[in-house]
Amino acid sequence: MNQEIIDFIRGLYGSEGVVPLHAPVFRGNEKKYLLDSIDSTYVSSVGPYVNRLEATLAEITGARFAVATVNGTAALHIGLKLAGVEPGTEVITQALTFVATANAIAYCGARPVFCDVDADTLGLSPTAVDQFLAANAQRRSDGCYNKTSGARITACVPMHTFGHPVRLDELLAVCAAWGLPVVEDAAEALGSTYHGKAVGTFGLLGAISFNGNKIVTCGGGGVLLTNDTALARRARHLTTTAKVAHPYEYVHDAIGYNYRLPNLNAAVLCAQLEQLPALIANQRDTARQYAAFFRGLDRTNFIAEPAGARSNCWLNAVQFESQPERDAFLSASHAAGIMSRPIWRLMQRLEMYRDCQTDRLENSGRLEATVVNLPSSARMQDGN
Ligand SMILES: *Cc1c(COP(=O)(O)O)cnc(C)c1O
Repeated sequence: MNQEIIDFIRGLYGSEGVVPLHAPVFRGNEKKYLLDSIDSTYVSSVGPYVNRLEATLAEITGARFAVATVNGTAALHIGLKLAGVEPGTEVITQALTFVATANAIAYCGARPVFCDVDADTLGLSPTAVDQFLAANAQRRSDGCYNKTSGARITACVPMHTFGHPVRLDELLAVCAAWGLPVVEDAAEALGSTYHGKAVGTFGLLGAISFNGNKIVTCGGGGVLLTNDTALARRARHLTTTAKVAHPYEYVHDAIGYNYRLPNLNAAVLCAQLEQLPALIANQRDTARQYAAFFRGLDRTNFIAEPAGARSNCWLNAVQFESQPERDAFLSASHAAGIMSRPIWRLMQRLEMYRDCQTDRLENSGRLEATVVNLPSSARMQDGN
């Protein structure tokens, strides 16, 4: 069976050599815009490509404001601060995620609480969050408190795993009932929609990443999305060292961050975004082919686009019946030069988050043991 999968992936990518997990593709205006940015001497965090990028991202997502940042983690960090996440408070998120989600919470001096994911979306489960809050939380006049730890719960961070949207309607309803702002970790989900609306724009704020392995990249980069004018202004301020506008004086009115995206990177990303619709179509076609293949293969379950959502299908994943079967595939595929990889370790199993509160994490535990990511680079139509 493993050989069948390996042969299928080789056929899909038409490659004899190593098949990477997710390689970036630069076939548009990337070099042109990059050189233009160098020639203009606007290489740092102010420049025409930054402005153009922010306008384009707002247009693509439908968000009123897009603030470009050095990476997705920085966007999430600032998003959490702006949502009111303070030191000593707690933030609910999923245990099954990339470590940056939990790290951004920790950068705020807050502590993550890890809830379960849904088995189909692989993202934060509204039912799990509802049950956790009903069992552990209490609403008081000044906020939502965790009865066990005594800490105030200040936000909820769902993550749209591999580009597949979480059940946003239900999750937003649960969080509204408990007075919790939602900050979306949409790092992997540029271009994904839920009931026709872009993910990253459902919560108070949303963060997207342009790291080298994401659907579009500029080496490193990110964006913070919001519809709130005051929050957008504050995000821009905090990410540019909280410098008060003045022709020459250095006045800073808060401990700010050097988190703005350089114009050089923005130039590359502007070119990448011109290709986004084609890239998403390509990803979705790859996902369709994987889905059709795995339908005919026993003891595997391809993680498909959730109902009601349109995924960017950034990273394909398949679930095996058991951990030994999954591990056997991992070693067979690596031996064959196919760069598959296991899904992340659950956050509370990492040293720095091991004391964090969790629910029973039933789905998360099973997924952690059985899911593998499969090669998902854009496929070249002309064989390049
Ligand atoms: C990539 C990623 C991030 C972080 O983005 P960077 O741009 O690498 O800082 C955060 N969360 C998730 C789920 C990611 O996949």
